[in-house]
Amino acid sequence: MSRDKQAGKFAKPDNREYTLMLVPHQGEAVVKIRIPVKAIKYSVATVCVVTILMTGAIINYRHTVKTANADKSELKHLREVNSSQNEQIEQLAGKTAKLQQDMTRLNVLDSEIRKILNSDELKASRSGVTRPNLPGHDGQGGPVIQAQTSVIGSASDTLQDVANVREKILNSDELKASRSGAIRPTSSGHDGQGGPAIHAQASEIGSALDTLQNVAEMREKSLAELKLALIELNAQLAVTPSIWPNDDGVVTSRFGWRQSPWGMGSDFHPGIDIANDYGSPVVAAADGEVIYSGWIGGYGKAVEIRHGHGINTIYGHNSELAVSVGQYVKKGQLIAYMGSTGNSTGPHVHYEVRVNDTAVNPANFL
Ligand SMILES: [Zn+2]
Repeated sequence: MSRDKQAGKFAKPDNREYTLMLVPHQGEAVVKIRIPVKAIKYSVATVCVVTILMTGAIINYRHTVKTANADKSELKHLREVNSSQNEQIEQLAGKTAKLQQDMTRLNVLDSEIRKILNSDELKASRSGVTRPNLPGHDGQGGPVIQAQTSVIGSASDTLQDVANVREKILNSDELKASRSGAIRPTSSGHDGQGGPAIHAQASEIGSALDTLQNVAEMREKSLAELKLALIELNAQLAVTPSIWPNDDGVVTSRFGWRQSPWGMGSDFHPGIDIANDYGSPVVAAADGEVIYSGWIGGYGKAVEIRHGHGINTIYGHNSELAVSVGQYVKKGQLIAYMGSTGNSTGPHVHYEVRVNDTAVNPANFL
């Protein structure tokens, strides 16, 4: 080996070389390999750089693997939590959907009941009860109006109950916590701790929904019963003589014993007399069939209507009749014009209600 020295040539490139001689022992030619010092320097530098890079890569790889393992574990946990929550959400969604259907049915029932409550029969009955100008009728309309008020009260109470329970559940701490919890990002250190709490909240919401469901079902049943009762009441009211045959007349004689208008002691008056202008309308007090339209002795020109359940009404002293026998009339329909035919002292309608052929006080129905 030889070594060239070129000291003092700072700017000159290093052209030194090593010669590697391979001397075979079998007398063959010597093989000389010349290696520039520059090449050795580059090689050493390259090896150093590669070593540093590889060391960095290995450290980075190990860190990455460690992080990936931690992430994998957390991901597995999150997937489990997610899956469990999805299941619970599906269950809650199912319950909510069922509840929604129940609420829809309740709303339909509610509007049906309100429709019945707003029917002409019920309105007429209510207005009839509050009419003030019949002496002695105090308290007689009571039961009917009381029943209606109670039905209206029950229906609105029922809906209020459902609304209250729903409000309570929606405002419950559990639901609030659950709602905020659902969108809260999960921290990496909470492994296994969030699950049970969420599960408990979901379970409480589920139980609250079950309660609400039961309440809704009970209310639906109750409202359905109310609806049936109202339909029956409505039908009954339609054929009950509950409105006045002349709506703005004045009661001049009531039912019962009275001083005779003919000045001959006292007599029993089997109806009520309502006076108004000659020719003012006389209307049917309830739905029914006209069974008589013509002259009846002292009643003059009269109409008799059969309403069913043994109830008939008679309207006397008319000037003109507007219906004929066999005709079906509705409550409030014009049947005659007021007059003073028969035994009468002035234009009025003698209104009589008979139950099984016995005259009863018409005020009992008004
Ligand atoms: Zn009379």
